Amino acid sequence: MGLLLKIILFGVAVYGLWKTFSRWKGLFDTFVGRRPPAEPPPPTRPAPPPAPPVEARRSGPIEDVVQCDKCGAYVSARIAKCEQCGHPLPQGRSSG
Ligand SMILES: [Zn+2]
Repeated sequence: MGLLLKIILFGVAVYGLWKTFSRWKGLFDTFVGRRPPAEPPPPTRPAPPPAPPVEARRSGPIEDVVQCDKCGAYVSARIAKCEQCGHPLPQGRSSG
């Protein structure tokens, strides 16, 4: 009897025993009522929140400012006089 044949027979025997054991164990568990521990449910990956619509960056009301010739402060071009020093602002300055 060759060694290889022994190994094969041994493997087959172990395989048969294991299958038989598994079957009887399954029947036993079925009758007893023991069930294998249920696998935990897969973690539900929360869906990423929908990205907010990209709105155009709302900048504040653009106001024309002019620099006072006297004190150098930037004041609104809509006013006639500087808020800082009262220097009259050149309205509608034109090049020339
Ligand atoms: Zn000024």
